[in-house]
Amino acid sequence: MGVFELIAIGNELLIGKTLNTNIHWISGEITRLGGFVRRATVVRDELGEISVAVGEAMQRKSDWIITTGGLGPTFDDMTLEGVAIALKRKLVLDRKALEYLKISYERAKKQGLVKSYELTEARRKMIMLPDHSKALPNSVGTAPGVLTKERNCTIVCLPGVPAEMKAIMKESVLPEISKAIGPNYFCEGTLLVSKVIESILAPFIKGAMKNNPKAYIKSHPKGIIDGASRIELSITTTAPSKKAAEKIVNDALDEMQKAVLKLGGFVLKREID
Ligand code: AMP
Ligand code: MG
Repeated sequence: MGVFELIAIGNELLIGKTLNTNIHWISGEITRLGGFVRRATVVRDELGEISVAVGEAMQRKSDWIITTGGLGPTFDDMTLEGVAIALKRKLVLDRKALEYLKISYERAKKQGLVKSYELTEARRKMIMLPDHSKALPNSVGTAPGVLTKERNCTIVCLPGVPAEMKAIMKESVLPEISKAIGPNYFCEGTLLVSKVIESILAPFIKGAMKNNPKAYIKSHPKGIIDGASRIELSITTTAPSKKAAEKIVNDALDEMQKAVLKLGGFVLKREID
């Protein structure tokens, strides 16, 4: 029910012009809802790259595939064409998408951003969706989002502009994801430690994970601060209730805290949220 793959589309991401903040934001939202983001892929604005990336994510039996970028009016916006190829579907003019597009341009007209609204070829491109898809309203920009299902996989296509992507996610997609995942709680605990180095901690992390199999323990070295090595230990889990998730994290935190003190290190901070 909750295995996700994300695909970020755009040359700008692969020439080092734009920081891929969309994947960072979407991963956080899905994880907090108890979903599991298995993989994120970044591809160029090329039809073959997009359709292959979507096809492969489907072959891996993802429950959800979320793409960002490439929904706009320009020649290099080809996400929907790529998805249509992967799903072996036609692109068809979608009435609901047309309705949403009109609303967006009426809003843009009121804001003085456009003079008139005509369905030019460039604009028409944004409402040609893979057959049997659902258009999602874009309350911030113009290109509607798209949601479509193929067997057990839900594919969602979102614009690249972060504000638009976030608006569609919050208004139309996250509520659906939450419903599909059901009651699931993500919990993270952190332990900020100093005066111990990662290689010494490594066997204790392994041991704590063996004793607490539902906890995932990840060390994040922060470098040398005030003459001592500093590490943040992040302990995460997902469980059916908040109480259960917190207990798993707290038990692992206790064990790691003991190990750090035994090794002569300091615990600077312990947090759970
Ligand atoms: P697009 O929807 O592909 O036309 O993208 C519009 C703009 O959104 C791009 O020019 C980037 O500035 C921005 N953008 C696209 N993808 C991302 C991403 N993954 N993270 C952050 N910004 C992005
Ligand atoms: Mg683009």
